[in-house]
Amino acid sequence: MNTRIFHLSENDTAAPEITEAAKILTDGGLVAFPTETVYGLGADATDEGAAKKIYAAKGRPSDNPLIIHIADPADAEKYAYTSELYYKLAKAFMPGPLTVILKKKDTIPATVTGGLDTVAVRCPSHPIARAIIREADVAIAAPSANLSGSPSPTCAEHVIRDMNGRVDAIIDGGCSEIGLESTIVKAEGDRLTLLRPGAITADALRCVCEHVEISHAVTEMLKADERPLSPGMKYRHYAPSVPLVLLEGDEDCVVSFMRRAQNAERCAILCYHDESFELRCERLIDIGERNDLAEQAHRLFAALRDADELDCDVIYAHLPKKEGIGLALYNRLIRAAAHTVKHV
Ligand code: AMP
Ligand code: MG
Repeated sequence: MNTRIFHLSENDTAAPEITEAAKILTDGGLVAFPTETVYGLGADATDEGAAKKIYAAKGRPSDNPLIIHIADPADAEKYAYTSELYYKLAKAFMPGPLTVILKKKDTIPATVTGGLDTVAVRCPSHPIARAIIREADVAIAAPSANLSGSPSPTCAEHVIRDMNGRVDAIIDGGCSEIGLESTIVKAEGDRLTLLRPGAITADALRCVCEHVEISHAVTEMLKADERPLSPGMKYRHYAPSVPLVLLEGDEDCVVSFMRRAQNAERCAILCYHDESFELRCERLIDIGERNDLAEQAHRLFAALRDADELDCDVIYAHLPKKEGIGLALYNRLIRAAAHTVKHV
C-alpha cells in the first residue's frame, strides 16, 4: 500500500488535507493523526471492516479494544449510555486526555470493543484530530499508531517507521504535547476505577468524583489467571527490544550504580538532566529535569525508541515515584521493564 504523508501545522484545521483525511476514513480507510497524547491510528468506529484493518496494521490482538474519539462530549450519546458522572468528567476534562469507559450502544460493532459490552470514549483537544473527526462526522476508533508492543509514537517519524506501507495516510502535525496515552477510567454509577494513569491524575479525578479506586494492575503484575478490567493491561507494551532495568534506591546510590555500569557494561542510561553532566556514558539519554514530570512524560517514549537504536545489551532508568503524573511514568516504565526492578 502506498502511504500518503500530509504535513500540517497544529492550527491548519481548514486545510484540504483535513477533508481528504476525513474522506479516507469514511470510505473505510486508515489515517494516522496527531493528538495531544500520542499519535492515533484512526478508522470509522461504526465500520466493522475498517476497525479490523486497525488490528491488522498494528498486529494487535483482537481482544484488545479500541478507544473511540469524538469531536464533542455530547456525541457520546450516539455510541454509549452516558451518566451524570460522565458529564461531570466531560465538564472538567474534555476536550482533553481522558478516556471514559461506558456501556456501549449497538452503533459500535463488537470488533471495536474486543467483544466487551462497554466502549472507551475520548474527546481529544488537538485541533487537527478534532477537525478530522468533525469533518468525518462519525466516531473514529484510534489506538496508538505504533506496531503492537512497541512504544507509542510521539512524533510523525515514529509513525512513519512503524506504519509506512500499512495505512492510507499519515498526518505529520509535529510532536505530541503530552507524550503519554490518555488516562482511562471506568465509570459505574457514582464511582470511578482508574485503569490507566495519564496526564489527568488520580487527585484531579478526586476533585470531580468522591470515589476513585486505582486498579491494582496499574502498578502490579497480573496473576497468571487474572482477567484485567482493561484487556490491554495483560499485554507486553512500550517495550524496547533489549532488557530495561529500573533502578530503585537513594539518589546517590542510583547515580553511583549508573557510573559503575557505564564502565562495565554495554548499557544505555536514561538519566535526569543534572546527572547528564556527571555520567560519561556514550549511550546517555537525558529524559528531562528531575522534578519536571511533565517533561519526562513528553520525552519518555522517544527516549525508549532512541535507546533501542543504540547498540547496547541493557537499558537502565530510574524507577519513578508514584505521585501525580509520576504514576503514569511508573505504569509505562514498569511494563516496558516487565517489572524488572533492581534495588541499589
Ligand atoms: P491504546 O489506544 O493503544 O492506547 O489502547 C487502548 C487501551 O484502552 C487498551 O489498554 C484497552 O485495553 C483499553 N480499553 C479500550 N476499550 C476498553 C473497554 N471497553 N474496557 C476496558 N478497557 C478498554
Ligand atoms: Mg497503544
